[in-house]
Amino acid sequence: MRDGAKAVSRSRASAGEQPNHSPTGSKPDPGLYLVSTPIGNLDDITLRALKLLAAADCIACEDTRVSGRLLSLLGIRPTALTPYHEHNAERARPALLARLHQGQVVALISDAGTPLLSDPGYRLVRACLAEGLPVSSLPGASAALTGLQLSGLPCDRFLFAGFLPVKTAARRSQLGELAAVPGSLIFYESPRRLAATLTDMAAVLGPRDAAVARELTKLYEEVRRGSLAELAAHYAAAGPPKGEVVLVVGPPGPAAVAGPDELDHRLTEALAELSPRDAAAAVAAATGLPKRQVYARAILLAKSR
Ligand code: SAM
Repeated sequence: MRDGAKAVSRSRASAGEQPNHSPTGSKPDPGLYLVSTPIGNLDDITLRALKLLAAADCIACEDTRVSGRLLSLLGIRPTALTPYHEHNAERARPALLARLHQGQVVALISDAGTPLLSDPGYRLVRACLAEGLPVSSLPGASAALTGLQLSGLPCDRFLFAGFLPVKTAARRSQLGELAAVPGSLIFYESPRRLAATLTDMAAVLGPRDAAVARELTKLYEEVRRGSLAELAAHYAAAGPPKGEVVLVVGPPGPAAVAGPDELDHRLTEALAELSPRDAAAAVAAATGLPKRQVYARAILLAKSR
């Protein structure tokens, strides 16, 4: 956060000020509001979101039918509901910016969860910032954080990686880029591709713990935990799960985080006592790195001795 922005947050908090859509507020201040909506359980809408959506001059959403249904269930009849999705964003953005320049209150919501997270909105926020228009966030449900919380995997450091490429080669290559990230990894994935993605992850990321979180906040919420290989085998046999899924993968072993020097150091020590095969097996078990990768390195080191 920039210093100026920090200063604004602090002064608001110290003055006990509330944004204008507080219970006592009347019309919210003009600007763009990024409003999170539930990811399944309607009760997860926030009080702020209810008030802001009821007061907005315009609600931009991905699919007007989906959001129309949600708003109706929430008892909100919007003044204007306008589509803003990946196929019309370039065309629709100027009209939203014009409304904002006129001093209107514009809310952005997605079909479910937090806008901008694997959903449209980033370019609209950029445009508002470039044009000096106010942007505010009303936080709420997000499948990524809910899945992370329930995964049983470390939450202190994580990387949200969104959707992986659909084609295997591109997917494996992107997983390779993420392999050394020293934290948990969070992915969105289609149930149809889940087994193939888990298989690629086991091959590229090695024997890590993982969790598949399905139908979060809904009636059939379920979290299946295991190693990547176990989960890949389960979904290959059981077929695609029903509903929506978040995939969380635990952090790599210490050698991968420390880098190739650390791996060489461990292997050199092990090779002083063991054959390349046994040294590789021991180091792979200790670090969580893929056996094949460690064995290939062990052979090279053994030859150069
Ligand atoms: N912006 C949304 C958010 O904050 O969670 C995510 C939108 S993204 C287009 C949709 C993906 O989120 C789904 O394919 C699935 O991976 C995940 N997702 C959404 N709702 C979910 C739920 N209730 N349970 C599990 N995953 C969910």
